[in-house]
Amino acid sequence: MASKKKKTKNSRRKFLGSSMLLGSGALLIPEVMSSCKKPDEKVKVLTQEGNLVEVNKADMITCHGASREESRKGIPNRKFVMVIDLSKCRNARKCVELCQEAHHLGLGQEFIRVYLMQRSDKSAPYWFPKPCFHCNNPLCASVCPVGATYKRSDGIVLVDNERCIGCKFCMTGCPYNARIFIWEKHEIDKIDETEIEYSPETGIPHREGTVAKCDFCPDMIRQKKLPHCVTACPMGVIYFGDINEDSITNGQETVSFSEMIKNNDGYRYLETLGTDPSVYYLPATARLFPFEEGLENKDEELLERYKNSPYFKEKNNG
Ligand code: SF4
Repeated sequence: MASKKKKTKNSRRKFLGSSMLLGSGALLIPEVMSSCKKPDEKVKVLTQEGNLVEVNKADMITCHGASREESRKGIPNRKFVMVIDLSKCRNARKCVELCQEAHHLGLGQEFIRVYLMQRSDKSAPYWFPKPCFHCNNPLCASVCPVGATYKRSDGIVLVDNERCIGCKFCMTGCPYNARIFIWEKHEIDKIDETEIEYSPETGIPHREGTVAKCDFCPDMIRQKKLPHCVTACPMGVIYFGDINEDSITNGQETVSFSEMIKNNDGYRYLETLGTDPSVYYLPATARLFPFEEGLENKDEELLERYKNSPYFKEKNNG
C-alpha cells in the first residue's frame, strides 16, 4: 500500500495559488466580524504550516452569509469532497467543538459526531467522525415536501430553515442519521435578529422547530477558508477539496484526491444504498494512536455513549 503522505505534482503552493477557494487554514478575514454576539474565548487552530495557534473563537464565526437565492446556486465550477483518514483519529473532538461554536449549537447538538466503531468483537475498535455525507442522490431532499432541503451545483446539500416546516421527513429519509431537530435555541444563538439576516449558508439564527445539519461550511469556503472541522482537527484527520481539481487538503498537506483514495483503499460508508456520498473514508489500518487515547479525559456523559460497544461489553465481562 502506498503511503498516504505521498504528495502529488499538485504541490500545496500550487494548490493555494489556483482558483480553488480553499486552503487558507486559520487565516482570518476581518470584514466578516460583525455586531452579532460572539464568544470571547480562545480556540486552537492549525496554521497553513501545520502549527497549532490560539485565535479568538469570535474570529472563526461568520454572522452574515449569502442571500437565500445565492445559497441555492452553489459556487460555480466546484464539486466539493471530503476525505476522513480514520487511522489518524483519536477522538480529540476538536472538530465537534468548533463546529458547535461556529454553528451556534448547544451541547448534544452535533453536526459531526464521533462514533466508536468495531466490526466484530474480534477486530480492533476505532473512532469514526461522521458529518452529513452531502449525497449526490440525497434521500433527504427527495422526501422534503416543500423543497427546504436541496442539492447545489457544487455538491453541497443545504437546508433553508425559512422554508422548513419541521415535518422531519428528511430525518426519517436520511439513512445516516445526519440531521438534528432544533427544539430550542442554545444561549449562543440568542443573537439580535434585527442585525443578522438569516442565510442557509450560515444557518443562523436557527429557527426553532426546524431541521439542521452539517453544511460543509459554505460561508467559510466563500471566504477562502476550510470548513471548521478541518481547521480544528489537531491530527489532520479531515481533508477537503474540489473533485474537479482532484485536489484535497487538511490544512497541512495537499494531495491528489483520486490517488489518496486509490492508494489507501478509500471507501464510502454504506455506499450500496445508492446515495453516492461526497464523503470518503480511509480505513483505520496502521493507526497512528492507540484507540484507548480517545477515551482519556472524557466526561461520564460522553463515555456513556460508548458503553454498548463490543469493546466495553467485553471489558466489563472480562
Ligand atoms: Fe441528506 Fe443524510 Fe445524505 Fe446528508 S447524509 S445528504 S442528510 S441523505
